[in-house]
Amino acid sequence: MKALVKERPEPGLALLDIERPQVRNVDDVQFRVEYCAICVGEIKVHDWNEWAAADTTIQLPTVLGHEVSGVVTQVGSDVRGFSPGDRIVVDPFIPCGHCYQCRNGRTNICVDREIYGKRRGAFAQYAVLPERVICGLPDKLSLEEGALLENLGIAVHAVELEPHDPGDVAVVVGAGPIGIMAAQTLAAYGVHVAITDVVDPRLQLAREISRATVVDIRQDGWRERIREMTHGRGADFVLEAAATQSALDQAFEVVRDGGTVVTIGTFDRPVSFNPFFTMIRREVKLLSSIGRTWETWRRMTQLVEADQVELKPLITHILPMEEFDRGFELVRSHSVMKVLLRP
Ligand SMILES: [Zn+2]
Repeated sequence: MKALVKERPEPGLALLDIERPQVRNVDDVQFRVEYCAICVGEIKVHDWNEWAAADTTIQLPTVLGHEVSGVVTQVGSDVRGFSPGDRIVVDPFIPCGHCYQCRNGRTNICVDREIYGKRRGAFAQYAVLPERVICGLPDKLSLEEGALLENLGIAVHAVELEPHDPGDVAVVVGAGPIGIMAAQTLAAYGVHVAITDVVDPRLQLAREISRATVVDIRQDGWRERIREMTHGRGADFVLEAAATQSALDQAFEVVRDGGTVVTIGTFDRPVSFNPFFTMIRREVKLLSSIGRTWETWRRMTQLVEADQVELKPLITHILPMEEFDRGFELVRSHSVMKVLLRP
C-alpha cells in the first residue's frame, strides 16, 4: 500500500510502497483510511526543525498522520464495539491503561502512551489500531469532518480545564482551526468570546463561524475593544492558541487579575516572561493542556449532536495523497485552515 513516510532525520517526506498493516492482536481494528488532515506539528517533522529533533517520541522511519477518519475493514477476535463497514475516527494518544494517570482517568498524560503518527501513522491506505482508541463517527458528520474531531478534542479539553459561567468573557488568541473550535465551544457554554489573529483569511472565516467577536490585532485600538467587552476588567479565561512569544504576551495582557490563561501551543522555541509581574502579583493562573480523554469525546459528540460546532467550513482543501508536497506547503502558509489528504 502507499504511505507517506519520514525516513531519516533530515527535511522531506517520501511516498513509499510498504506492507499493509494486519490484525495481529485480539483487540486490533484494521481500517481503510478515508481522510487524514495535516497537523502543524507535522510541518515541523517534515522540515525536521529544532522542535522535531527534540521530540524523543518520534521513532524513524515512521508513517506520519494522526488526524484520521476511516471505515473498518477487519477486526480481531475480542473486538466488541466495531465491525467491518463502520465509520470511525481515532484518538491518537494510545494509553497503556495501567499506569497511575490512566487509572485516574487522565489517559491523555499516560506515562507510557504511544502517540500515533510518531512510530506508525495514518497517511496510508490502511491502518491498524487497538479498539480502545477507536471512536464511532457520529451520524451527523461526514468522513471529511470526522478527520477534524481530533482537533475539536484539543479545543474542548483546553476549554474544560476551567469551569465557565454564562456571561463570562473569554479571549482566544489565534484563529487557526483549534482556536475557532475553542471559540465555538466557549460560546456553547454561554461565554462571550473574542478571537484575535493577524491573517486575513483566518479573520474572515472566524467572522463567519466562530460565534465570537473578531479582533484584528494589527489595528490600533484592539486593546480598547477587549477592555470594553470585559467591562474594563480583562477576560476571565484566555486560550493561547498561536504558540508565539507575542501571543503569550497578549494572553497575559488581556486576562483579568485572578483569571486563567491556558496554553496549547506547540512552541518551536523557549519564551520568556517575568512570572512576578505577569502572574504572581495578579494571581493569574497559567495552565497547559494536551490532547483529550474519553470524557472529552463524550462531550464533543454532544456538542456535534446539538449543532454547537460547525466543522465543515474549516476544511479548505482536500488533495490526493500524491499531492502531499502541495498540502504541506499550504499548511505552512498559514492562510488556509485544514488540508485533508485522501489516500
Ligand atoms: Zn498509562
